[in-house]
Amino acid sequence: MKPKDGYSGEELLNSTQGLSYNDFIILPGYIDFNPDDVDLETQFTRNLKLKRPLVSSPMDTVTESKMAISLALLGGIGIIHYNNTIEEQVAQVRKVKRFENGFITDPVVLSPEHTIAHIDEIKEKFGFSGIPITVDGKLGSKLIGIVTNRDIDFETDRSKKLKDVMTTDLVTAKVGITLAQANELLKKSKKGKLPIVDDEGKLVALMSRNDLVTNREYPFASKDTNKQLMVGAAISTKDESKERLQELVKAGVNVVVIDAAQGNSIYQIEMIKYIKKKYPELDVIGGNVVTIEQCENLIKAGADALRIGMGPGSICTTQVTMAVGRAQSTAVYRCSKFAKQYNIPTIADGGIATIGHIAKALALGASTAMMGSMFAGTEEAPGEYFYENGVRLKRYRGMASLEAMEKGGSKRYFAEDSKILVAQGVSGAVVDKGSMFDYVPYLVQGLKHAFQDMGVRTIKELHEKLYKEELRFELRSLSAQIEGGVHTIYSYKEPKYL
Ligand code: IMP
Repeated sequence: MKPKDGYSGEELLNSTQGLSYNDFIILPGYIDFNPDDVDLETQFTRNLKLKRPLVSSPMDTVTESKMAISLALLGGIGIIHYNNTIEEQVAQVRKVKRFENGFITDPVVLSPEHTIAHIDEIKEKFGFSGIPITVDGKLGSKLIGIVTNRDIDFETDRSKKLKDVMTTDLVTAKVGITLAQANELLKKSKKGKLPIVDDEGKLVALMSRNDLVTNREYPFASKDTNKQLMVGAAISTKDESKERLQELVKAGVNVVVIDAAQGNSIYQIEMIKYIKKKYPELDVIGGNVVTIEQCENLIKAGADALRIGMGPGSICTTQVTMAVGRAQSTAVYRCSKFAKQYNIPTIADGGIATIGHIAKALALGASTAMMGSMFAGTEEAPGEYFYENGVRLKRYRGMASLEAMEKGGSKRYFAEDSKILVAQGVSGAVVDKGSMFDYVPYLVQGLKHAFQDMGVRTIKELHEKLYKEELRFELRSLSAQIEGGVHTIYSYKEPKYL
């Protein structure tokens, strides 16, 4: 028999030393297909599948509705954070569920009493004009006009009320109109905006001519059986979560993540059992866990997927301060292998900084990768950009940073009742990544190339090869790691994404 080169996952990761993604490399396989033949469909939880193995972290600088909408359109899923009131979190979930490609379901609306100066402000802030006017300036109220650039271009008196300049001769469409029909109407009417109204003439949504041009189809979008985008939400193990959960379920949430830094607790076990009993249709992700014993407890309680990671996050100080956790590659491999016996998929959460790390997480048995810092710099993440030393940045903070805990994020760390808050994370900034609509396709294409190099076409096949010990690995010495990066040259420009 031909001797096998390299080492199996078991040989690599069953040692006294914990490994991280950079400590090892995957040996190449055999290529007899194109990157486009790679299919990245994966099992996210026991009952939910995704076309792309990408999940955004439930953090207040990462996932609100905009992130969740973009990631779901692109085939992944976002988990809405819970560092907010129940109403705020539910409103975020609703926005995702209400999203319809091409329709703006939360347009900026003004009242007839507002002035042109208000429109100027909106234009300055959001870069668009063409504002529907309802009786009281609210969405859901009777539509009475629209103000577009043409109505106010040459008006020198910017304090003029909108009721004196708005167009009242409106072309509208009834709610229920399809995207294609609405597109036709927009084209024919030659207007910039098409308000969508209900039977009583109340404003429900808006369509924009600009979007018509850029409107793309998203064939890999993560949708539920109602054809709505899928979204997850995080909750804590605290009792307050029961009320939160009830409202989230009403809003149509597809999956909940029980967000705890150390998931192996009586509180989480009871919460999982409670959810599975009360909402048997709802998938529950338990975590975070890094050992087999932790996995076993949560799987037995009824978890539909496990979130793996304690301490690898880019903003995380848990291992330094608490002395507890595990190196991420070891954690992902050991937990995924154990959970596989129960057909429970795992999510590799934290410490992912490159496409290669996502590929490695999947190669170690994870079914999806959860990312915070990778997505925090995109346009779709919450918060505004700012400049530091000429670099365009966005804020990114750990949910156990003092700053986030003071806002309520300590629910994850059993710290809510303590008077003294011990930080397990930091608050910082990440570099501008542009839009998710450019970034995610890049990640996906990069992943397909990684799969081609490994000689596998699907995540299922990757896992089969891992457990049949056909996928081969090798440890990397420190100099091997240096050799594997850019070195010895005088200067170079880093690619936009890694
Ligand atoms: P990243 O992708 O490396 O930035 O890690 C994101 C992950 O870090 C999240 O999904 C959480 O599991 C974890 N995390 C979030 N906030 C904190 C914190 O304050 N301390 C430790 N871990 C955190």
